[in-house]
Amino acid sequence: MIIGSHVHFDKTQLLGALEEALSYGANAFMLYTGAPQNTFRSKINSEYTKLALAKMQTEGIKMEHVICHAPYIINLANKEKEEAWNFSISFLKQEIKRCEELGIKYIVLHPGSSVKHTCEEGINNIIEALNHIVTDDSNCMIILETMAGKGSECGKNLEEIKTILDGVKSKNLGVCLDTCHLNDAGYDMQDFDAFLTEFAELIGLDKIKCIHINDSKNILGSHKDRHANIGLGTIGFMALWKIVTNEKLKDVPKILETPYISESDEDKALVKPPYKFEIAMIKKGEFNPHLKEDVRNYYK
Ligand code: FE
Ligand code: FE
Ligand code: ZN
Repeated sequence: MIIGSHVHFDKTQLLGALEEALSYGANAFMLYTGAPQNTFRSKINSEYTKLALAKMQTEGIKMEHVICHAPYIINLANKEKEEAWNFSISFLKQEIKRCEELGIKYIVLHPGSSVKHTCEEGINNIIEALNHIVTDDSNCMIILETMAGKGSECGKNLEEIKTILDGVKSKNLGVCLDTCHLNDAGYDMQDFDAFLTEFAELIGLDKIKCIHINDSKNILGSHKDRHANIGLGTIGFMALWKIVTNEKLKDVPKILETPYISESDEDKALVKPPYKFEIAMIKKGEFNPHLKEDVRNYYK
């Protein structure tokens, strides 16, 4: 089972990210190379990278199982302000360079929101932008995340994802599934086999390079995108566990992006990471109804 969560990339960069992942019992992890909401980026420190790579080797963690997530502010679909669109392109290029420096092989990208454009125009803008960005010779592949279809999000169904993949000349492009987004977009995760069959026919299973494992706070087809802890949402533990353990996807890293837990039910601030306990219950194959209490007690 290749499983982990998103982790921090701050003071000691890749080394700190790895150590956080190990503290959760993970053998995969995902990071943002800076804050997801802004474009401030610290310089990559090659010493930390070296130490991290050595430690990954002793811990048996593969670089293929380390994923980067591009910041949300990148929007390749909206070309209303040409400078903003150009900025998104150059910023994503810079993020890819940072990944290459770190040795990271996959970067997850939200395809974008079309805003005032039609969905079709938005998708054409994404294709045009990716044709400026994606090259065959890069060691870092962009993987397009399937979206919930909140607002004007593009990439909310497999047809849209396929149109983007087909429109980009380089084939150095993959897909990242997100179970919460798929549920919210209207794909029933209780019948994941049917979804996979559709995916295989339309796109090909070899394009799936990462899966975000999240439960959802909302019902099938709600187009909301609010993640829930594993087993505490509308998808449920068993359906998610079956996806994680699916034979056809066994080599694909599974990444949790579930919400942090608050100090108490009355408290709103989400401060405690649930991943150690969510990973444990997935490994065990059994829902833990005391997830929140266990997390609160552990990080006291
Ligand atoms: Fe995402
Ligand atoms: Fe996601
Ligand atoms: Zn989401």
